Amino acid sequence: MVQLIDGKTISKQIKDELKEQVAELSAKGVKICLAVIQVGNDPASSVYVGNKKKACAYIGIDSLSYELPEETTEKELLELIDKLNKDDAVNGILVQLPVPKHIDEDKIIKAISPLKDVDGFHPMSVGALSIGQPGFVSCTPAGVIQLLKRSGIEIAGKECVVIGRSNIVGKPMAMLLLRENGTVTICHSKTKDLKEVCKRADILVVAIGRPKMIDASYIKEGATVIDVGIHRDENNKLCGDVDFESASKVAGAITPVPGGVGPMTIAMLMHNCVDSINIK
Ligand code: NAD
Repeated sequence: MVQLIDGKTISKQIKDELKEQVAELSAKGVKICLAVIQVGNDPASSVYVGNKKKACAYIGIDSLSYELPEETTEKELLELIDKLNKDDAVNGILVQLPVPKHIDEDKIIKAISPLKDVDGFHPMSVGALSIGQPGFVSCTPAGVIQLLKRSGIEIAGKECVVIGRSNIVGKPMAMLLLRENGTVTICHSKTKDLKEVCKRADILVVAIGRPKMIDASYIKEGATVIDVGIHRDENNKLCGDVDFESASKVAGAITPVPGGVGPMTIAMLMHNCVDSINIK
């Protein structure tokens, strides 16, 4: 029987642990505060921002909400970030991406102090991860590591294949698996013989952005399959980059969509907010 890696339960465990930590900190007079900035009113972004604020409330983290109009200028946004960078009462700053096209996303990411970069997107955070120094780690790949560890899946010495090389998922995912002593291969749209490379994997992490692309024919018998993708299928049902029905016949362990990687992203964002008191 395939082992179902339950992101819903694991993310709840993490949030409950954080809730306890926050209560202990609060008893010592230490407060944690996340500033969340949204520019424009993209409906998907509003849902993500709402979920982040809900998670803060559950754990006991204060959240400051900045809902800025679509026509906010880059200069205005940079000024707000600068103000929050200087505010000692603010531990973390999150700008919900994507920002409107007239704002340079890279400039915004770089403007957030690496000491408050709870998304882990700042070049200094990425650099720290690659050389093993303390810093914030991108939430989705950090969540995948927690899923593996808390499901009893050993990473050290394992063949790990990551499909996707984006800055927010694929690349940090590969660095984290390497940090856990996996033997890591990164595949992307120009990889030759994708199937053959994937079939070497003991742990296959799929972050392609193509619905149900990875079926059983890409998977070694007994491998662990982590599906980062989120899509709506032709029946408007949520699905991932992995064809779950086919893959679960061969895999040893697999994440479902929904209920796998998805809930872990916010749990790890909350972890980063609490961890902000240790990042100096
Ligand atoms: P992206 O589009 O930035 O990157 C996709 C990567 O896949 C690229 O590096 C590309 O080289 C590779 N790729 C594309 N087609 C390929 C092919 N045919 N063969 C091999 N590689 C191919 O996407 P992303 O931001 O990394 O996100 C990936 C998926 O994960 C998306 O479905 C996204 O919605 C989802 N996602 C989920 C969460 C979450 O919280 N669960 C967070 C971020 C992203």
